[in-house]
Amino acid sequence: MSTNQDKFKKIVSHAKEYGFIFQSSEIYDGLSAVYDYAQNGVELKNNIKNYWWSSMVQMNDNIVGLDSSILMHPTTWKASGHVDAFNDPLIDNKDSKLRYRADVLIEDYIAKIETKINKEIAKAKKRFGDAFDEDEFRKTNNRVLENQKKIDNTTSKMKKCFEDDDLVSLKQLIVDLEISDPVSGSKNWTDIKQFNLMFSTSIGASSESASEIFLRPETAQGIFVNFLNVQKTSRKKIPFGIAQIGKAFRNEIIARQFIFRMREFEQMEMQFFVKPGTQSKWYESWKENRMKWHKALGLGDENYRFHDHDKLAHYADAACDIEFNFPFGFKELEGIHSRTNFDLTQHEEYSGKKLRYFDPEINESYVPYVVETSIGLDRMFLAVLASSFNEEELKDKNTRIVLKIPGFLSPYKLAILPLVKKDGLSEYAKKIYDDLKAHFNIAYDEKDAVGRRYRRQDAIGTPVCLTVDHDSIKDDSVTLRFRDSMDQIRVKVSEIKKEIDNRINISNWLS
Ligand code: ATP
Repeated sequence: MSTNQDKFKKIVSHAKEYGFIFQSSEIYDGLSAVYDYAQNGVELKNNIKNYWWSSMVQMNDNIVGLDSSILMHPTTWKASGHVDAFNDPLIDNKDSKLRYRADVLIEDYIAKIETKINKEIAKAKKRFGDAFDEDEFRKTNNRVLENQKKIDNTTSKMKKCFEDDDLVSLKQLIVDLEISDPVSGSKNWTDIKQFNLMFSTSIGASSESASEIFLRPETAQGIFVNFLNVQKTSRKKIPFGIAQIGKAFRNEIIARQFIFRMREFEQMEMQFFVKPGTQSKWYESWKENRMKWHKALGLGDENYRFHDHDKLAHYADAACDIEFNFPFGFKELEGIHSRTNFDLTQHEEYSGKKLRYFDPEINESYVPYVVETSIGLDRMFLAVLASSFNEEELKDKNTRIVLKIPGFLSPYKLAILPLVKKDGLSEYAKKIYDDLKAHFNIAYDEKDAVGRRYRRQDAIGTPVCLTVDHDSIKDDSVTLRFRDSMDQIRVKVSEIKKEIDNRINISNWLS
């Protein structure tokens, strides 16, 4: 097993053991690709939401929020194209009976070649040291060039299959590339079929009067159908945006990789309405803006990259992903799409209601164009969890597991630990807890030796631990111990809030 897979397994079991994520309905053997956020998970998730929401709505005077419902009129999904086109191309392996997304099989094939190129580059880097020029190497090394050619050929063939809606050639591509079932190794494939990803249910009391409706597969349509309501009541002028966080549902077929691909998940989406003709400018500007936002978190700039879509969705004139280096490789974290005026125009047509904006600057009405930023909350959670998970060997040869979560996202900002329960230390510590609990989320723990309590807090990412000892009662001072450095300082009780605030205040990140 590769070290990355190994690390990923550890992260998944850590998430369960330390109360971040549980399998849904576990006592009934679970429901595949559906997860519950546990006591620490829900705190981290809420903090991520809050960070996104504040940076969209609080930091931009031209973006407002919305919370639209999951259930919508069924015509919404006719208009948006989801009934007819929200499909995945699926292929079955006849021997293993396992089902795959055809495009994912091909993308995994490409990723393997990319890994070969990266290995070649790493080797050369080691050999040439400081003198190594990666661009030059990519342009001149025969093995790299050959592999890059394979990637480019495969990408362009796949793109053409999607453009032509040609599933026969797509299957042929899988056969020609000799792609085998990653589980069984078999190359015995069925034809490719389209499969709609929407969950349906029915609304209404009796079976005769009931009609089929869908659980929303994206939050965006709730924003589109409310576009004019929000614009009129907020009196916003174009360009302006509407942000929303909410659940979305997709009947994903390959539901692997933990919370990366779930059937019930949460999206944080912002639709930015712009004047026709200005969409490319706004698309570029949101691309840059979103990348900056990610990098500001400090999970490592090298863990992000853009990936332009090979296959544009039916509504888009430009689209890219921000990919994150998950333990299983670079994969989509956020999508940025220039959605044209497709959605609003479709809703005008299907509803018979005008969804136009009167632009006082040019004295004209038009259907705005839309640039969307759409990030999966659960994928962001996984990115934070995976990149903050560290196993460290300590000076005394023990190891500690520590989640180096950016402090303002940590489930608890502070843990209060009286050295012993007796001699009035508990009472003193509880008073500090009561005085500070209105300011931030605090854990209180007085069980076991203090070293073990530190480890427990390290494992859930608490940035600061505070210990109360016998001197505290005499001099009103406590020891603060910092998660990442394990350094300790002695501070006056009156200084605690300031010390913690400096490290965890969200405004440091927002600005
Ligand atoms: P993928 O190609 O991985 O299926 P997508 O391109 O269909 O994703 P979008 O429709 O662009 O995804 O959705 C926007 C964001 O929602 C994605 O960037 C991702 O972070 C998140 N997302 C989409 N599907 C899922 C899912 N099944 N589970 C968790 N998050 C998801």
